[in-house]
Amino acid sequence: MKYSQMPREQLGFFPTPIVKLHRLSRRLGGPRILMKRDDQTGLALGGNKTRKLEYLVGEALAHGCDTLITGGAEQSNHCRQTAAAAAACGLSCHLVLGGEPPDLPNGNLLLDELLGAKIHWTGKLRKGEKIPEIAGQIEESGGKPYIIPYGGSNPTGAVGFVEAVRELVEQLTKQKENVTHIVFPSSSGGTHAGLIVGNSIFGQQFQIVGIGIDKTEAPDGAFDELVLHLSNSTSKRLKAGITYLPSDIIVRNEYLGDGYGVVGRLEREAVRLTAETEGILLDPVYTGRTMGALKDMIERNEFSQDDTVLFWHTGGTPALFPYAADMAYGLVGAD
Ligand SMILES: *Cc1c(COP(=O)(O)O)cnc(C)c1O
Repeated sequence: MKYSQMPREQLGFFPTPIVKLHRLSRRLGGPRILMKRDDQTGLALGGNKTRKLEYLVGEALAHGCDTLITGGAEQSNHCRQTAAAAAACGLSCHLVLGGEPPDLPNGNLLLDELLGAKIHWTGKLRKGEKIPEIAGQIEESGGKPYIIPYGGSNPTGAVGFVEAVRELVEQLTKQKENVTHIVFPSSSGGTHAGLIVGNSIFGQQFQIVGIGIDKTEAPDGAFDELVLHLSNSTSKRLKAGITYLPSDIIVRNEYLGDGYGVVGRLEREAVRLTAETEGILLDPVYTGRTMGALKDMIERNEFSQDDTVLFWHTGGTPALFPYAADMAYGLVGAD
């Protein structure tokens, strides 16, 4: 199906703004840096999952479902946006979260609860492994669940980022801007696959550079394969007639640090640098790591002065608060 014919439910405010990071660019002595503000998609504090959810929820409603079910980590931005989407459409929401219930919910988890989601705790399983089981229970009690996979990353969700490329190209044309590279955090693969397919469908030559975020997805090129597979299945879904090769997928896996959600100096310094120089808040898990990576790549002279890098701010700022101890490290007490 052509993507423009796919059911879509309006959940966010689009187009999201593109801002020029002159001061950051000067500070780093690097190429021009633009930022696509998907932290401003507007759905309960925003983020990249809003784009995927417009198509996923569109499909859920077209199928007559009454319940959304998805899963992730305790501080999942995807789960928070799914809970908001469900509330906005009058659907029930079940979230399957890794970990144990904390004494006091904070950040995204607090928002999940305010948004009325029913939460199922699954200990060490933080990628929604128990979704099918819980969907079965919902069916038995007469509900009609729509399953959204981990991160919303299937061909339907990825179409949100095909559409995002259309949106971007329209904005760049209007603003007479020329972008050479798109740099963004890549974790469950849907954002990445959508950008790759959109790049082809809309005849662009952006270098699509995903920064790997999750070590468990990354070993031995496994994550690259996942993105490749998802790009091909998204292309097939849209009858785009394009087959991608492993060489089409760029994932930078050298910034994984100590793994998913483990915040260190790279993330902390990048979050603070962006806040101090531009007044823009990144997040500790995804965009902080990605800005740290971009800074390192600039310091290694990977870009020329003629390049223009578009940093895709995928959201996640509500997680700054539960990561307060990591973020404030060195500010309070001894470093
Ligand atoms: C989910 C998420 C990502 C990663 O997007 P994927 O499509 O899962 O690869 C990046 N940044 C933030 C803030 C996210 O919540």
